[in-house]
Amino acid sequence: MARSPVVARTLPALRRALTELREGGARVALVPTMGALHDGHLSLVRLAKRRADKVAVSVFVNPTQFAPNEDFASYPRTWKADAGKLAAEEVDLIWNPDVKVMYPDGFATRITTEGPALAGLEDRFRPHFFGGVATVVGKLFLQCRPDVAVFGSKDFQQLRVVTRMAADLDLGVKVIGAPTVRERDGLAMSSRNVYLSAEERSAAPTLYRAMKHTAKLMRAGKSFEPSLAAATKMIREAGFTLDYFEARHAETLEPVRSLKGGPVRLLVAARIGKTRLIDNMAV
Ligand code: AMP
Repeated sequence: MARSPVVARTLPALRRALTELREGGARVALVPTMGALHDGHLSLVRLAKRRADKVAVSVFVNPTQFAPNEDFASYPRTWKADAGKLAAEEVDLIWNPDVKVMYPDGFATRITTEGPALAGLEDRFRPHFFGGVATVVGKLFLQCRPDVAVFGSKDFQQLRVVTRMAADLDLGVKVIGAPTVRERDGLAMSSRNVYLSAEERSAAPTLYRAMKHTAKLMRAGKSFEPSLAAATKMIREAGFTLDYFEARHAETLEPVRSLKGGPVRLLVAARIGKTRLIDNMAV
């Protein structure tokens, strides 16, 4: 039987576990998560296994990336199930610090991000978000010193921000983006999907359908503006309040108006009931 992952909850325990993992020069991959693990997270773990000798997964619901009116308190916490799934994947180490370990009393430092973090997408609706993400991911990288780290393309702007930060701060970690894992009807897997009522859940794949339709029109040479307008209408008619549905350059996240300005990425964020969903797709 495979060995259960080591679970570290303090920095000394983490350091001991990492020293053991690195014996013989083993390369370590880190997969940062907030727990409530689904098949999307597990696909990152599998990719990490292919890219490194040992895999560490962090499970930490990061308070600094939630605004006071957001769902930090109610965010799903499913430690037992998560630990079971990670053991089944034969992960080597789970880093599961308490909030007080990550942010001890008096903590007063924050990583500020620019460039892709100010693209006018998530940052427009969650202005606190990337500062919180960059701060915790920066800390995770310094705590674990991984050779590679795997993030989902599902959070496309976040992937760009973290990649930029790792390069800018010479953190010595290669950030790898993994494809989005979807339900059979196209809905991107997300820990927040459990918030959806049955009715909202049946409307939710509209985001995927709208992106797929728009990408097809764009690839066929249709102009961007009416294609985006049609998708916007489709999403609103399904009961969503739309935050954005945009075509951006996949690397710089700058707005693009034609295929020539690409590679083009469609990015969407919309709210239905109490749930906010985000998704994206290559054109
Ligand atoms: P979270 O726990 O939601 O913070 O996500 C942890 C990591 O899993 C992030 O890198 C996400 O982009 C990634 N992730 C979340 N959902 C999916 C999905 N459906 N497919 C692939 N990766 C995902």
